[in-house]
Amino acid sequence: MTAKIIDGKKIAAEIRASVKRETALLKEKGITPGLAVVLVGDDPASKVYVGQKEKGCLEAGFASFLHKLPGTATQKELLALIDQLNGDGAVHGILVQLPLPPQIDPDTILAAIKPEKDVDGFHPVNMGRLVAGLPASEPCTPKGIMRLLKSTGIPLAGKNAVVVGRSNIVGKPVALMLLAESATVTVCHSKTEDLAGHVRRADILVAAVGRPRFITADMVKEGAVVIDVGINRLDEGLVGDVDFGPASEKASWITPVPGGVGPMTIAMLLENTLEQAKKLVK
Ligand code: NDP
Repeated sequence: MTAKIIDGKKIAAEIRASVKRETALLKEKGITPGLAVVLVGDDPASKVYVGQKEKGCLEAGFASFLHKLPGTATQKELLALIDQLNGDGAVHGILVQLPLPPQIDPDTILAAIKPEKDVDGFHPVNMGRLVAGLPASEPCTPKGIMRLLKSTGIPLAGKNAVVVGRSNIVGKPVALMLLAESATVTVCHSKTEDLAGHVRRADILVAAVGRPRFITADMVKEGAVVIDVGINRLDEGLVGDVDFGPASEKASWITPVPGGVGPMTIAMLLENTLEQAKKLVK
């Protein structure tokens, strides 16, 4: 079997176009969706991500508020900024770019953002709502992964879904979302025994490990849908957590790296911000 490609770049572009159309309609009602992005320090990768988010906002017609703090900023200073943004009516979404410098506790910061403005979906209230199956601001990468899975048209109910990775930003939330779709979910991590055995049973496989080509073709079930979340920078360029070429010979659908999950994250961030702004329409 040669897998069909799940074209995240194309799907993300369609979502961004739809966000842009809806934003234009919202602006006619006097509401401009606003996203505040906070960058602390000058980590080069973070700067790139923040730049992409700002560009996405401007393309969608949003107001973009970029706040840069020096790497020496204190937790108190950052909390004061978040407090100000929480109370700012022009700001519908607040995103604090991670990682933060060591003097700042990320959990304290994420918990300080108003849950209604937490467009990254990392606030404990939103995480709790996700666990409870209640409507929540959903974390962007897992939400994007679910969209990619749905784009294949393959029903998820009853399928064996295996998630490799249990981080709070990808593995855990995507496992909950798959469970909410009635998949039978297994979560693997660094202490999992017989990881290959679990992965071989996956009808739906989500790899979020951060190790280049960690999932080899012999672990992929014939006909599986494979979502590769990994972004690994090698001399040869970006590669995923899945050995793409050989795995494509066994999977029915697969995401490429780059051009798979990556573009969906910003599309979901824009969608989450728009959804928050739309709540203001009476
Ligand atoms: P983390 O480092 O937070 O988590 C990695 C997970 O992989 C952990 O749960 C870890 O297990 C598990 N793991 C590590 N080594 C092994 C192993 N040998 N066997 C089994 N499991 C293992 O990473 P993230 O979840 O933040 O990110 C994962 C990947 O996804 C990265 O490449 C990242 O760059 C990418 N990413 C892409 C995004 C996008 O496309 N927009 C967004 C976010 C991330 P344990 O918990 O036991 O340590």
